[in-house]
Amino acid sequence: MSNPRIEVDLSKIRHNTQIVVGLLKARGIRVTGVTKAVCGHPAIARAMLDGGAAGLAEARLSNVKRLRQAGMTCPITLIRTPMLSQVDDIVQVCEASYNTEMSVTAALAAAALRQNKVHGVILMVEMGDLREGIMPHDLGDLARRVVDMPGVALKGIGANFACLSGIAPTAAKMQALSMLANDVEGQCGPFIETVSGGNSANLPWATGGHATGRINDLRIGEAILFGVDPVTGDQIGGMYRDAFTLVAEVIETDAKSVHPVVGNADHTLARIRLVPDISKITQIILAIGHQDTDAAGLSMPPGNTLIGATSDHLVIGTKDAALCVGSEMRFQMSYGALMRAMAAPDIQINLRNDRPASIAHRVHGPGKHLALV
Ligand SMILES: *Cc1c(COP(=O)(O)O)cnc(C)c1O
Repeated sequence: MSNPRIEVDLSKIRHNTQIVVGLLKARGIRVTGVTKAVCGHPAIARAMLDGGAAGLAEARLSNVKRLRQAGMTCPITLIRTPMLSQVDDIVQVCEASYNTEMSVTAALAAAALRQNKVHGVILMVEMGDLREGIMPHDLGDLARRVVDMPGVALKGIGANFACLSGIAPTAAKMQALSMLANDVEGQCGPFIETVSGGNSANLPWATGGHATGRINDLRIGEAILFGVDPVTGDQIGGMYRDAFTLVAEVIETDAKSVHPVVGNADHTLARIRLVPDISKITQIILAIGHQDTDAAGLSMPPGNTLIGATSDHLVIGTKDAALCVGSEMRFQMSYGALMRAMAAPDIQINLRNDRPASIAHRVHGPGKHLALV
């Protein structure tokens, strides 16, 4: 096995999805699995679907194409406002997209007409996070414009929380979103099929016993991948936190012992700082760096501390005398560390507990390579 690598336990992704799906099903809410942190990795996306996710959502067109190329036929929604320059491809590979700009929606509609398709539009409403979204008082007008636009169909409305401003969704905000769905239906007629209430940060609200109203969808990434509530960082009951493990290799161990960093000026302080353990700390180097991941987002195994990182080196102080050149070290990652590591070309992705071959075959569908034979 080559290093560095990410080990992905797909059975844990399936399990975590099942738990979230079960929690939300009881509240009348379906789960759309968000794959952006794993760059649309098809096997991870498949594990989310196997765990009961109703569909997938992606932020980037390139990741959607990757999913389609792997044979995924499920509905995929683009959750980042589409780029005007990408509308043709978006209509081709996504059933629907989240929209906030009428110029983009009009271009999607024109692209859909050219392709003899109807593209689904979900209007994103600003509810306090101050990232993307239409102001609530403009929603009715814009919804009517979408309804009148051939080539697109108004599929729903959505909101996003706790991304840019860290504003957590409250019961009042969720109720306001429900009311907006009713208002839009009153103003322009069509049934609003999807009311997507937000992301993993909505789970405490969704499972907290509040009325869920019209909210029938949540877009969940982080909670499935990490088994935690992203706002508090607390583990969600029964979920795995360690579906992903980063493995990196030691390339230097015995060159330097680390001495306490104290100035020469104050010898009293120096004496006080000289705790016996410190002399046992060795500085080691691993072959991974900023170019591969977010070094500060790696959780150090007990007995190890992060000293620093550069583009290609991770420097750790360790008490583990057994570590030698060629040893592997294993780390849990933060969301940011995972996101970068999944996109890093030098990191191998190693899948564990994939589905049995017979089922895996069906997943990939009639592959293009078969048609060549
Ligand atoms: C990233 C994102 C999500 C998923 O967020 P998680 O915290 O990973 O659950 C949902 N909706 C939008 C619009 C996003 O950008």
